[in-house]
Amino acid sequence: MFSLRKDDLIKLGLKSAENVHYQLSPEELTSQAVARGEGVLNDTGALVINTGKFTGRSPKDKFTVKDELTEKTVHWNDFNVAFEEKYFFQLREKMVAYLSDKELWVRDCFACADPEYRLRLRVINENPWSNLFCYNMFIRPDEKDLETFVPHWHIIQAPGFKADPAVDGTRAENFAVISFTHKTILIGGTGYTGEMKKGIFTMLNYVLPVRADVLSMHCSANMGDNGDTAVFFGLSGTGKTTLSADPNRKLIGDDEHGWTKETVFNFEGGCYAKCIDLSEEKEPEIFNAIKPGALVENVTFIDGTNKIDFSSKKITENTRVSYPLDFISNALEPSIGKTPKNIFFLTCDAYGVLPPVSKLTAGQAMYQFISGYTAKVAGTEAGVTEPKSTFSACFGAPFLPLHPGQYAEMLGKKMRESNVNVWMINTGWSGGPYGVGSRMKLSYTRAMITAALDGKLDNVDYETDPVFGMQMPTSCPGVPSEILNPRNTWEDKAAYDAKAKNLAEQFNKNFEKYSAGVNEEILAAAPKA
Ligand code: ATP
Ligand code: MN
Repeated sequence: MFSLRKDDLIKLGLKSAENVHYQLSPEELTSQAVARGEGVLNDTGALVINTGKFTGRSPKDKFTVKDELTEKTVHWNDFNVAFEEKYFFQLREKMVAYLSDKELWVRDCFACADPEYRLRLRVINENPWSNLFCYNMFIRPDEKDLETFVPHWHIIQAPGFKADPAVDGTRAENFAVISFTHKTILIGGTGYTGEMKKGIFTMLNYVLPVRADVLSMHCSANMGDNGDTAVFFGLSGTGKTTLSADPNRKLIGDDEHGWTKETVFNFEGGCYAKCIDLSEEKEPEIFNAIKPGALVENVTFIDGTNKIDFSSKKITENTRVSYPLDFISNALEPSIGKTPKNIFFLTCDAYGVLPPVSKLTAGQAMYQFISGYTAKVAGTEAGVTEPKSTFSACFGAPFLPLHPGQYAEMLGKKMRESNVNVWMINTGWSGGPYGVGSRMKLSYTRAMITAALDGKLDNVDYETDPVFGMQMPTSCPGVPSEILNPRNTWEDKAAYDAKAKNLAEQFNKNFEKYSAGVNEEILAAAPKA
């Protein structure tokens, strides 16, 4: 085992850091967390911890250093909030001073499965379980890689360090600050582990399209036996992780991918799955990944046992488990697929208006990609407790430093070159809106996706959605035909028509800011309100 060169930490300012744990195994990290009273094992041997005050990301507290490099290239908006470099230096100095006399956990790892685009990361954590998260989620180097490991990027993460908004340039005590110039992400005041993975994702969403002509995507991906790749775009809670874990296909990854000239590759080395209402029957792959090495966040136990109560929202609805990709039995290694044959846009439509499966034209695909519609499901972000419709460009606006048009243009070009099928899947409500209808059965959604992938929807009849324009199959193997047209599932047809009109208006209103920059074909795909 290689030890960390002390020089490297001194360079960061961690002069007196004596007690540094470098590259510990999941077993060591798990037992340290238990010994420190920071976690317990559940009945299947996974480490169960509590992330503290924050059980979701805090997008309002994410900042990007505005400097020569980023000033004209970053698309400054609600998600890309400018931060002065002097505050970055100040915070880094304070964090380093805070960490200097503490026990530290350091991990070297990679982002990007494709060796050509691989970036070397060094993560410095304040506790063992945050470091286990990084072991699970980033790509694990082997001993040979470590011999010559020089990091490109650093993450310094200290949940116990609190900023002083009065003097540190932050909004609150918690923050995630990214500097592209200094290749550093500072995270403090929050123990939510997802900030680390989405910090690196944000970085890649800048670096890959700009420097390498690779389209970075907020999507999951898997591959069939004959090598056909499918990608699943979608905002949080729409089903990327759930639907990509398909026993009949090889998993490439559940959340972040890059599309090169020839390949689709995973940025990560693990999955971060929701646990709410998890059951062995409905999601066996994920359920069985909860075993030694997995890190389970913010769940509670059934009284008097150490069995996880998956139905409990006592701490949060956003309960999560992270685990390395190979905890899924059919994970592809290395996680690199080919140019996609099928693209799915997942949406969780709380209005119950959009069809459960439909086929999009190229213009509709671009329109939907730029719109990025879903109804946000409670819990992943602080302060969201009820479903609420959201438009998030490219299905990932909070993580995109560039103007959405840049990603959309790249996707449009790739779609034209590859002749890919594009489908829209509504994993949300049917039979009425949230409160009246119910969520689409997972087994039906899986059947629709399987049918699309297997070519079983190539020769069926379609009808056109009169408002949204997409093509809805009138039959689909394994799915009752009457649910394929959402209007049929509503008892009150007038209520359906009113909701459809309302949603169409929301789409049109949201699109106003993009309409000047897109072509006729895309404009023609707007819903008819
Ligand atoms: P994130 O970006 O936050 O990781 P995600 O897109 O990966 O989100 P999932 O973790 O797959 O989302 O969450 C989908 C949730 O919805 C799961 O808890 C799943 O069990 C549930 N669900 C219920 N019905 C369906 C359905 N028809 N299709 C997909 N998921 C469903
Ligand atoms: Mn996911």
